[in-house]
Amino acid sequence: MTPEPNQNPIFNRPYWWDFGSNGQPLQLKQLAASNLTLPSSVDCVIVGAGYSGLSAALTLARAGRSVAVVDSQHPGYGCSARNGGLIGPSFHKLGLAGLNKQLGRTMAEAIIQESMDCLLWLKQFIREENIDCGLHETGRFRGAVAPKHYENLAQQAESLHRLTGLNFEMVPKSSQHQHIGSDFYHGGIVYHQDGHLHPGSYLKGLANAALRAGAGIYAPAQVTGINTSTAGYEVKLTEQSIQCGQVLIATNGYTDKNFPYLRRRIVPIRSGIIVTEPLSSALMSEVTPKLHGFGDTSRLVPYYRPTPDGQRLLFGGRAFDTSDQPSRYVPDLQRLMLRIFPQLRATQITHAWSGTVAYTFDHAPHLGQIDKGKLDGVFYVMGYCGSGVGRASWFGRKAALQMLGDTEGNTPIDQLTFKGRPLYSGNPWFLPLILRWHSLIDRFQYRR
Ligand SMILES: Cc1cc2nc3c(=O)[nH]c(=O)nc-3n(C[C@H](O)[C@H](O)[C@H](O)COP(=O)(O)OP(=O)(O)OC[C@H]3O[C@@H](n4cnc5c(N)ncnc54)[C@H](O)[C@@H]3O)c2cc1C
Repeated sequence: MTPEPNQNPIFNRPYWWDFGSNGQPLQLKQLAASNLTLPSSVDCVIVGAGYSGLSAALTLARAGRSVAVVDSQHPGYGCSARNGGLIGPSFHKLGLAGLNKQLGRTMAEAIIQESMDCLLWLKQFIREENIDCGLHETGRFRGAVAPKHYENLAQQAESLHRLTGLNFEMVPKSSQHQHIGSDFYHGGIVYHQDGHLHPGSYLKGLANAALRAGAGIYAPAQVTGINTSTAGYEVKLTEQSIQCGQVLIATNGYTDKNFPYLRRRIVPIRSGIIVTEPLSSALMSEVTPKLHGFGDTSRLVPYYRPTPDGQRLLFGGRAFDTSDQPSRYVPDLQRLMLRIFPQLRATQITHAWSGTVAYTFDHAPHLGQIDKGKLDGVFYVMGYCGSGVGRASWFGRKAALQMLGDTEGNTPIDQLTFKGRPLYSGNPWFLPLILRWHSLIDRFQYRR
């Protein structure tokens, strides 16, 4: 079923970097000043120039703080300029009922409500900052891969609607073709408030807003350690150091061995993406008649969407392997895409790349301050479990507000404890086994 591979695909480089929302290359490296121009002291150092770090930088700089954002590669090198660009409320995986059991009703409702607030805030933020990032509020269709999932989707959506005003529509299998050119699903649901954007252009817009507010962005500049000092902290980089009063670590799925406290609490999971060659307009409007974003109820959570120009399909999902080798995830993604859209069997894949998302053991993002060791008092924000376009921007801002001592920075997730697991130090050796198991269950569901 898999077509002959394209002879000249662009692998290991996100499509987004070459085609910004205006069709031009993004040139993300140019957003950063050279590490040679790093200041010797600032109020705040932020480690990681993704959505979390840049959103925090924007908030801190607008409050009058001097800020240096440093990234070991370049702005957007991590997830933030390589993701699928799908936006939605990203409700907690356990849903309202599951959270209720674990945390009690008040906390559960507050966490769920914050997810919706975060989506609405993101859209408003993009408009207010005038960020040109191909924002399409075209909704998301989530397909049911088994008949009973259709009922579950309806029940969950009803309770979320009562609490948050979630705007949804159930789509039975008989009218599914109005939303997706596929017979694969047993009906589905449309979340009307969801949509998609160009993740790289959004990153660039956010970085430019932070620069305009006075923040400095420096790369390549890897933080190799942090010590306490008379100023507060000494942030050590490969060749020099910066003195500062506060530090925020915003490294998410790219948290390296320099931060063992955080690595023990984060499970990096590889997610891969493929992009098709341009499709004919007839084929494109058959596949996605309403230009929705897409997902489904399978355990390996595929996500897909049209590119901002409406010409190609971008298809992503979990990679079984922890390595960044396209040969380890492209065939699996292509097979799954063809299972959903057999009409794409002659279509070539032109781009493929992957990145590491950050899972946490309680499936929730975390922000707060480290309370022991050399990093005592250092702030962190991370753990978006694969849904971070809105959440990283929102919680990055919240972290900055907490650094400023502003109570607007309070969030329901302050109540959650950021826990690791005994014997886990950041190497997810068990993941391939778990993912294969999920894949087996998915295949069993697909046959029903
Ligand atoms: C393939 C893929 C698809 C995704 N699809 C979606 C989607 O469709 N919708 C959605 O909502 N979310 C999606 N996500 C998740 C989303 O992109 C992330 O949650 C979000 O971008 C996280 O932003 P961040 O700023 O916290 O981290 P990142 O953007 O990952 O930034 C972390 C940065 O820290 C830097 N860093 C690490 N260590 C150091 C150090 N020691 N010194 C200096 N710098 C350091 C890294 O170089 C990196 O640039 C996807 C992620 C991936 C990988």
